[in-house]
Amino acid sequence: MNFCVKCGRDCEESLDGMCIDCWLDGRKLTELPHHVDLRVCTNCGEFQFGDRWVKKELTDAVQDAAVDNLSVIRDAKVTGVATEYECQDPYVYVVKVHSECDVMGYVTEDVASTIVRIKNNVCKRCSRQLGSYYEAILQIRTGAKGGLTADQREKSLAFTEEYVARAAATNKSLFITKMEIVTGGVDVYLSSISLGKNLAKEFSEVYCAETKESPKLVGQTTDGQDMYRLTYLVRLPEYHTGDVVIFENRYCKLTRVSGNGGRILDLMNFRERSVRKSDMPDIKLYEKEDDLKEATVVNVMGNEIQVLHPDNYSTVDLRTPEGYECDDTVKTVVIDDVLYLVP
Ligand SMILES: [Zn+2]
Ligand SMILES: [Zn+2]
Repeated sequence: MNFCVKCGRDCEESLDGMCIDCWLDGRKLTELPHHVDLRVCTNCGEFQFGDRWVKKELTDAVQDAAVDNLSVIRDAKVTGVATEYECQDPYVYVVKVHSECDVMGYVTEDVASTIVRIKNNVCKRCSRQLGSYYEAILQIRTGAKGGLTADQREKSLAFTEEYVARAAATNKSLFITKMEIVTGGVDVYLSSISLGKNLAKEFSEVYCAETKESPKLVGQTTDGQDMYRLTYLVRLPEYHTGDVVIFENRYCKLTRVSGNGGRILDLMNFRERSVRKSDMPDIKLYEKEDDLKEATVVNVMGNEIQVLHPDNYSTVDLRTPEGYECDDTVKTVVIDDVLYLVP
């Protein structure tokens, strides 16, 4: 059995020769610095904690910043905290931190306070975005004369924006720096090389676009590494599903385009076949679906129909595929002065 050197009471355990009450008497267990600076990004409103920027309510951030700076003496352990704050002005908050402390199994409380000062700043991501930072350029073009149509341009930009929005949901450093309409197409400036690479791949898979990447040395980092920007050329094919195309000297209707290639229907014998992705660039556009001519059907007999030639209104017999059911008019195309059905 020990006794306390201060009050003389018997005590089972002692600290520095004192009973727990005498030892705690007037002793500060926790401490906070006089003030704590809390950086906020004026652009996105996130707060800096360590080397991370996080989204928080202002008052939560203020109280968390205080707690993060709490220190405790060696013999005590903080087992819980409660905070309260008082706003002195929008940039200055007084925060009190009430701590529950364990000192050799004895639970007690302590309180410390600090001034949290809000400091305006710009986070790294925003400073890059505001500074027009980019690592890659996606150049969207087409093989067709006259460049991208307004419709193609809008669709591919919407496709790009959706893709980037999905990627940015889990990685905030991914963003579109700017989009620029240029002769023949559109340029999209992107914050990351991998974003450019993945987008080019996506265009290739969804639209069967041809892609080409070219790096450009733009300087060196502070530690002497070469720094590159990547340009990804995405050439959208001229053709679309429904167009009449030429493939291996055959005139065909393009029935499907996908990431794996396409399917074509031969207009001479109505046989359908697949085209491998690697062969898709060999497909040449002959007539766009919108430019196909409607012909009025005047007679149907088995695998043949009789139509009025859309140019001279003479009657023409056309072969039809097995099981073909036609409307009052059908789509046709003229190849070498001969009229063909486009089923
Ligand atoms: Zn004592
Ligand atoms: Zn920011």
